[in-house]
Amino acid sequence: MPVRAERRSLFTWGYESDEPSDADRRAYAASLSERLGQAVTPPTLPRVEDISIRAPRLEVPARLWEYVSTDDAERITHTYGGHTLEFLRAIRGDFGNPPDAVAHPRNEQELEATLEWCNTNNFAVVPYGGGTTVVNGVSAPEDRDQVVTIDLDHLCEVIEIDDVSRAGRFQAGILGPDLEAHLKPHGLTLRHYPQSFPWSTVGGWVATRSGGHYATNHTHIDDFVESIKTLTPSGWMESRRLPGSGAGPSPDRMVMGSEGTIGIISSCWLRLQKRPTFRATAGVLFPDWSSGYTAVRHIAQAKLWPANLRILDPGEAQSSAGLDGQQSLLIIGFESSDVPQGAFIKEAVKIAREFNGQIDDEDVLIDDGSGAPTGRGGAVGAWRDAFIGVNAGLSNGLGMLSDTFETAVTWDRWPAFDAAIRESVGGAIRETLGASGRLSCRFTHVYPDGPAPYYSFSGVVAPGGEAEAWHTIKAAAMETIVRMGGTVTHHHAVGRMHAEGWADQRPALFDDVWRGVKGALDPNDIMNPGVLM
Ligand SMILES: Cc1cc2nc3c(=O)[nH]c(=O)nc-3n(C[C@H](O)[C@H](O)[C@H](O)COP(=O)(O)OP(=O)(O)OC[C@H]3O[C@@H](n4cnc5c(N)ncnc54)[C@H](O)[C@@H]3O)c2cc1C
Repeated sequence: MPVRAERRSLFTWGYESDEPSDADRRAYAASLSERLGQAVTPPTLPRVEDISIRAPRLEVPARLWEYVSTDDAERITHTYGGHTLEFLRAIRGDFGNPPDAVAHPRNEQELEATLEWCNTNNFAVVPYGGGTTVVNGVSAPEDRDQVVTIDLDHLCEVIEIDDVSRAGRFQAGILGPDLEAHLKPHGLTLRHYPQSFPWSTVGGWVATRSGGHYATNHTHIDDFVESIKTLTPSGWMESRRLPGSGAGPSPDRMVMGSEGTIGIISSCWLRLQKRPTFRATAGVLFPDWSSGYTAVRHIAQAKLWPANLRILDPGEAQSSAGLDGQQSLLIIGFESSDVPQGAFIKEAVKIAREFNGQIDDEDVLIDDGSGAPTGRGGAVGAWRDAFIGVNAGLSNGLGMLSDTFETAVTWDRWPAFDAAIRESVGGAIRETLGASGRLSCRFTHVYPDGPAPYYSFSGVVAPGGEAEAWHTIKAAAMETIVRMGGTVTHHHAVGRMHAEGWADQRPALFDDVWRGVKGALDPNDIMNPGVLM
């Protein structure tokens, strides 16, 4: 399996080759100038070679030189994760807090030697997968004097495939596309597609409990984890492969979501499945938001388990599927490797119609496994293109602020929850972004007992004012989410960004429980300090 050939971009998700060209950035700035009636000029982007950073505050012993380095370029490219404000700091050349060294262990022995060196010297350790965290999960803690980032990129092998049980053992640093490419000849797939799939890793997914593209049933990576191998400062921990177990509290559940704070996941067994061949898709229009989300609740509660059940509110349906600003759009998708899906989608469409959903029978696309679907498709294509074509590099640094926040809440609280968010966050957006501000919502995942709403906001802000505006909006969102009974994150993780909100959400006694876990596995408190708690 090839180790990553390319350097990650400092300004956008992905690699340097994913960066928009200067011509694209100038064209985008020109279209923005026209829209806003004021000149917008794209800033000059600093190159890694031109950035100067502080000297490393530690020395790497000769025995580790082959895979631990204090090279500036390494430290610069590992300074930030993938949040908008991190990209903005990078664009402005602010690399004030880089890690002091970056390790790329090539096997478990080198991983052990690196962690032992850090533990003996009390160096803080930041595990690093693909660096796509949007919650400040891989930045160096400000209050530690020596910080070592451990990048898992060389631990990227598929170790073993068990075709009988349909499971595979993967090293933690393998990227989504490499994993799927390896499984394809076996006719297998993990089918876990977070939106960051091209650039994120198995270890990152498990450490953050990522959410994939299944809208119902198998939503989080948790559902696919069979066993995990983790190196902690106190030693190795590996759970037994089991299809299920009722034996006490689960060691895997303790590692999942630990975000690098108790150890480094080196490999794990994940459940696999046959590649789907039967598919069915429909895009249903609703006259308004509430009839759309009510239909979604009934479809989820009918336990039909669609792979996709994504409702877009009128704002989002307008911007990403070109609808009229009143209607909401529901995208329903079913997939199976073994069973034709026509009957299931027809049942879901029937429920949608009971709540004023509009769709012609011809717009229900059914693929019976032959790869030649029947039906016209409808409004789904435009939305899919907008979803996949994410690129932070075009608008960043041009005075546009855009970000998202996501949560989950039970249905009984949902309408009041949504109203409260629109009031408080909408108010904060008006205060900071004025008339240009936009707030919209879609559901990324749906459970029989509640939805996982994903809110997007954007607007124009004076260059330099982005961070202040973002903090005002984010504070309103977090306060309302916690007050109205939601979670501070459904799948973007806690990191440093949501640590305070998570403290308000969890039972107070759990703090002591987690401190006990931390004390046993990481007695010197070197693992990702400041993340989670
Ligand atoms: C454009 C974009 C879209 C996104 N879409 C989604 C989405 O659809 N669903 C979703 O869930 N998330 C999404 N995210 C967030 C992010 O991609 C996920 O949190 C992902 O799981 C992080 O994986 P990574 O390999 O990039 O980990 P990193 O960003 O490198 O690390 C994330 C955290 O996990 C820790 N960590 C990483 N590897 C290990 C390891 N081997 N052992 C222990 N700790 C480790 C790090 O220290 C850090 O705290 C998105 C992010 C971006 C930028």
